[in-house]
Amino acid sequence: MSAALITIERARELVLAHTRPLGDERVAVEDALGRVLTEDVHAVGDVPPFACSAMDGFAIKAGPSGRTLQLVGESRAGTPSDQPLRDGEAIRISTGGAVPEGATAVIRQEDADTDGQTVTVNEAVEPGENVRNAGEDMHAGTKVLPAGIVLHAAELGAAVAAGLGELSVSRRPTVQVLSTGDELRAPGEPLGPGEIHNSNAPMLVALCSGCGATPLAPQRLRDDRAATEAALGQGLEQADVVIVSGGVSVGPHDHVKPALAALGVTEVFWGVSLQPGKPTWFGTAGDKLVFGLPGNPVSAFVTFSLFARPALFALQAAIEDQPLDTEAVLATAVRRNPSREMAIRVRLERLDGRTVALPNGPQASHIVTSLLGADALALIPAGDGDAPAGTRVRLQPLAR
Ligand code: AMP
Ligand code: MG
Repeated sequence: MSAALITIERARELVLAHTRPLGDERVAVEDALGRVLTEDVHAVGDVPPFACSAMDGFAIKAGPSGRTLQLVGESRAGTPSDQPLRDGEAIRISTGGAVPEGATAVIRQEDADTDGQTVTVNEAVEPGENVRNAGEDMHAGTKVLPAGIVLHAAELGAAVAAGLGELSVSRRPTVQVLSTGDELRAPGEPLGPGEIHNSNAPMLVALCSGCGATPLAPQRLRDDRAATEAALGQGLEQADVVIVSGGVSVGPHDHVKPALAALGVTEVFWGVSLQPGKPTWFGTAGDKLVFGLPGNPVSAFVTFSLFARPALFALQAAIEDQPLDTEAVLATAVRRNPSREMAIRVRLERLDGRTVALPNGPQASHIVTSLLGADALALIPAGDGDAPAGTRVRLQPLAR
């Protein structure tokens, strides 16, 4: 590892400097859930498109109680009245029915009596009462959704209400997840001596999906130079991003770096002043990105959150979502690392108007349970001794 480790911030800058958006495609709104919008959405027309009733009742002219009016027609949702409303008349109307020309209000069914021929008005009615005006929700041309957001249920509903049937969205990045290690067994398989379960693969695949990427079928690699090079080469051919866990340190069975060098992948950095996650490796082959993440599951999760997640968002030209707060105060003292910044998993609570970060149990890089229920990463600068309770710390999103 190069003598000088770079900071988390510098590593992120380098990742983003090498990441270009993948481009966009048009999809039907029905297929756009979870995609990143690449163009602002403007309302095509007014929403609602016409003045309509907020209630079931009768379209009338506003006025006093006690009037008896002739019932001359009906305006249903989807079938407007075929005649305008004149003085002395009422038109039956349903919620969502167009308010007929000449009507200035709607009286609720509960506030009127009818015998089928006439309507008796039992309440005074103000102009505009129970009427939803055209454009009350959106005016034609209003910007409804900004480019860069992830489309969830509300955004899809708003886009359709605004008149769109298709949306321009980013292409989803494809990701090849590779796990190195002779010791790894598939989920649920019985373990032989010295073996462990491959927890990184399903975790990294899930994290990629959570960032809007399309993970290819993950692969496990033996700690073998030729096998490592072959799998990395195939990953580079098939995916936009390769994420390999383990095998990126300096041990005799760590083959990832020499294999990537042989494949012509350019190293951008190796080694971040970070605990956990020091041996993180990042490189590029053309527009393709390669992340070599440390094998320990917590290190892999944390370095994915800090470096791969922003890249997957940037590939989709997405606005990266942030924790509600960017700072918190430590609830308890935390022993600092003398030379590296620490990214600890914390739960967040509001206390007396402040956001408080509670370390989520033991923080060693093999303690997978420290990820359970964690809300964010808190960054603790390098230093001697403890960061005392009450220290202000910066927060970073923890991928999900
Ligand atoms: P390495 O980075 O290959 O030296 O691995 C560091 C530690 O992480 C070792 O204890 C490995 O057994 C463990 N490890 C590596 N890959 C995985 C994996 N896919 N799932 C769980 N633990 C792993
Ligand atoms: Mg290994």
